[in-house]
Amino acid sequence: MIGVERGAAVEQDVWAQAVAFTRERSPASFDQWFSGIQFDGLADGVLSLRARDEFVREWVDQHFLPTLTDHVRSQTGWSVQVAWTVGGVVDSPVSSHPHVEPVRPKPLSLRPEMAYGVLDRAPVTPRAPAPPPAPIEGLNPKYTFANFVVGPSNQLAHAASIAAAGGGGPRHNPLFLCGGTGLGKTHLVHAVAHRLRLERPEARILYVSAEKFINEFVQALQDHKMNEFRARYREKCDLLLVDDIQFLASKTQTQEEFFHAFNALHQADKQIIITSDKYPQQLERMEERLVSRFTSGLVADIQAPELETRVAIVRKKAQLEHLDVPDDVVLAIAQTVRSNVRELEGTLIRIAAKASLMGRAVTVDFAKGEIFAASNARPNEASVEDIQRVVCHHFKLRTADLLSKDRHKSIAFARHVAMYLCKQRLKCSFPELGRAFGNRDHTTVMSAVRKVEGLRGADPEVRAHLEAIERKLGAAD
Ligand code: ADP
Ligand code: MG
Repeated sequence: MIGVERGAAVEQDVWAQAVAFTRERSPASFDQWFSGIQFDGLADGVLSLRARDEFVREWVDQHFLPTLTDHVRSQTGWSVQVAWTVGGVVDSPVSSHPHVEPVRPKPLSLRPEMAYGVLDRAPVTPRAPAPPPAPIEGLNPKYTFANFVVGPSNQLAHAASIAAAGGGGPRHNPLFLCGGTGLGKTHLVHAVAHRLRLERPEARILYVSAEKFINEFVQALQDHKMNEFRARYREKCDLLLVDDIQFLASKTQTQEEFFHAFNALHQADKQIIITSDKYPQQLERMEERLVSRFTSGLVADIQAPELETRVAIVRKKAQLEHLDVPDDVVLAIAQTVRSNVRELEGTLIRIAAKASLMGRAVTVDFAKGEIFAASNARPNEASVEDIQRVVCHHFKLRTADLLSKDRHKSIAFARHVAMYLCKQRLKCSFPELGRAFGNRDHTTVMSAVRKVEGLRGADPEVRAHLEAIERKLGAAD
């Protein structure tokens, strides 16, 4: 940790930048409110503020603090707590201080040598904005640390990601993030990339999904460009982020290639972060030596968030999308959608969009009606498991048969039919379906779907089977 090197000047500077950043959005309103606020210090993540009265405190707390504290957090990695003093004399209001030009979050305390440099200088030094670093392919600009809500379910993964980005704390290499779908793995690795890019614009950051890595590898082989490919992944890279490593399953050649890239980077002490929907030991058809590399650093899992975290996430998303959603509606959404943050977000956006279209206020009754309607609509929207169950029932098989390696004709046919129906009715990708059917390759699913499509047109018996199963599943929409 570099807390000891943090001096008052650094903290003044962090504060001044956060003020500049926040003020930039609405200077007049900012100045008006901050004429009643005094800055009493920032130390070890505690921001001390004094407010002229309760009214000013509440307003500033609601309307400005999220932006301010997020900015401080994005610069320092601290999760900022605010200590308020209400009342008393505000003789040095924030709005009376000279304004600093806002710059994008900078390294400050994250690099000790920088922190020392800043300490030597006078506090609140305006800086010339640095030219923006080049964008990194494939990153969502909204997936930053500032936009990530930390709770018990993701605390370790979050802290380890901050450390991997150079933000202090022990750095683990590799860092292996695992957890169910929609729980924030991709968000965290993008955040690491954003942070490092701001911090060290010269760092070479590579973000790829495992699927993309496979495709690039295959393409490089075809084009005889393996040297370039290898240089890219083994040498010209300071931070490698590989998302959804589970898709490397069964790809022995790609796994071999990845193994060498991994070793080269690891030996050069370049940070590697990998995400997966399973623990390393649970990855199927993955070479043992890769699995053992994956477990050699830190494996940090992300669990489904608990209620408080879900509430905070819905609030954060509403704030980011500029949606005015009352607290009881936030709570109703957080209470209903439990296991997937993506769905939590989707529900919020849908409710807000519908209310706005209908010219209605977002009340808790309106929200509950929407949530209820959506949960009622869901039975039509079967899951992969539902479809597998119905298909098995129809063909008098066990679900385990569908997932097995059994290639017996009648089982293979039922499996193909189930894959086809899943593809028709669900928004699943081929690789997702491959996984859901006993970790099969996505090309297997593709050819199964094509085959059943063909048979449906050509073979009345097949058509009759399909129609019978579809009746059981209910009409598709
Ligand atoms: P995964 O990669 O684990 O499937 P994502 O990173 O794509 O999940 O997250 C799904 C959605 O949920 C994204 O929009 C992301 O911003 C959001 N999300 C997940 N966890 C959090 C969190 N802790 N705070 C804020 N947003 C989150
Ligand atoms: Mg993801």
